[in-house]
Amino acid sequence: MKESTFWLETVTEWHPSSHALPARVDVAIVGGGYTGLCAARELAQRGARVALCEARAIGWGASSRNGGMVLTGLKSSASSLVKQLGLETTRDLFCLSLDALNYVEQVIRSEDIACDFRRCGHVELAYKRSHVAGLEKEAELLQTKFRHPVRLVDKARLSEEIGSPLYHAGLVDEASAGVNPAQYVIGLAQAAERAGAGLFEGVRVTEISKSSDGSFALTTSQGKLRAEHVLIATNGYTDRLAPWLQRRIIPVGSYIIATEPLPAEVAARLSPKRRMMFDTKHFLYYFRLSADNRLIFGGRAGFMPETPSTVRESAEILRRGMLEVYPELRGVRIDYAWGGTLGFTFDLLPHAGQTPEGFHYALGCGGHGVAMLSYLGACVARRIGGETVDNPLFALPFPTAPAGLYRGKPWFLPLVGLYYRILDLIN
Ligand SMILES: Cc1cc2nc3c(=O)[nH]c(=O)nc-3n(C[C@H](O)[C@H](O)[C@H](O)COP(=O)(O)OP(=O)(O)OC[C@H]3O[C@@H](n4cnc5c(N)ncnc54)[C@H](O)[C@@H]3O)c2cc1C
Repeated sequence: MKESTFWLETVTEWHPSSHALPARVDVAIVGGGYTGLCAARELAQRGARVALCEARAIGWGASSRNGGMVLTGLKSSASSLVKQLGLETTRDLFCLSLDALNYVEQVIRSEDIACDFRRCGHVELAYKRSHVAGLEKEAELLQTKFRHPVRLVDKARLSEEIGSPLYHAGLVDEASAGVNPAQYVIGLAQAAERAGAGLFEGVRVTEISKSSDGSFALTTSQGKLRAEHVLIATNGYTDRLAPWLQRRIIPVGSYIIATEPLPAEVAARLSPKRRMMFDTKHFLYYFRLSADNRLIFGGRAGFMPETPSTVRESAEILRRGMLEVYPELRGVRIDYAWGGTLGFTFDLLPHAGQTPEGFHYALGCGGHGVAMLSYLGACVARRIGGETVDNPLFALPFPTAPAGLYRGKPWFLPLVGLYYRILDLIN
């Protein structure tokens, strides 16, 4: 088993052509994942001078390591969001998620990015019989209040969706899509560069200060850079560079294993419609097939950000989870295991806006960031460019923990993990 990201094996190595940082740009972007790259492309298309600084390699963060599920909705179900935010705001946010998906599709088509993007739909699977009622309620809300077509599949017909006896029902949403995440992020980088953005790898931004003329002075590992605007696009990898954001974003590890390629008839049995699949547990499993028929099986095996030892431990936990879903895969080789860090927020919502020091940002989303953060990167870019952008997220307050209890080290994650494990046991 290789402890590396399977998706990266499917892309030809690519690096941006920019080398020396310019002295001054209109917009400096920190972070080279979907958020930063979509923003860079939009800004450069509008004629802005852009420098995107990525500490490692383009796409090094969650954007090359995720499950490639381009999903409708947000991390929290619409039913729980209605309790948190009311019906109107939830409807607005759900519509925003559909806009985000359309945006991703439109960028991929217009830039001709070969990344296996397919509107294959997703199915959310009830892990316990008691979870079926929650899916029924969600289906009714989406159908009647949001006029969004979803379908509940009962246990008797679930074999049309999944070759596993484990689950009790499934909520199917045909609008969701799947993508090869690494091919998508490299395709975005190439598109941003074609549009005229400067992309710089191996450039860590270590400090940003505001000058008396209102511009920003960035100190980086490769020298100084001055910019009229700054966008922080570091999501789960946000550090002390932006303390206001660091107090609001919680880095959480998520892990994935990939099997060897499966025979076509086995793949067709496991996932007859090749959908994106995830279940209703807090410690959820999420899984799908790759283009070459590997089962890509992920989960929140632990909550702490990834390290080599958590990847190894998680791979074994995930292998057992995979066999719980698909006992017939006993004996199938696991070829790859990897982890990545995603960004959670205290209200589980995505957030976009401007910090008190004037940095623009877009982050959060948990495991729902492929579509939403691509789109939010673009929305923030348009806003920097002076356009009026109608986005309900710009109006939402961005909470942190009370009384300075959180400064960026997620000391409480083991407790949260334990709490969710107990909930998974009893609910
Ligand atoms: C294992 C896993 C599975 C997931 N599965 C899904 C899924 O199936 N569907 C879905 O919608 N979402 C999923 N997600 C979430 C999704 O991948 C993320 O929300 C999204 O990729 C975040 O993109 P981003 O550009 O904001 O951040 P990232 O892609 O994480 O990029 C942030 C970048 O910032 C750089 N950086 C940090 N600090 C600095 C600095 N000081 N200077 C310069 N650069 C810096 C980092 O090196 C990093 O490359 C998953 C995430 C993980 C980890």
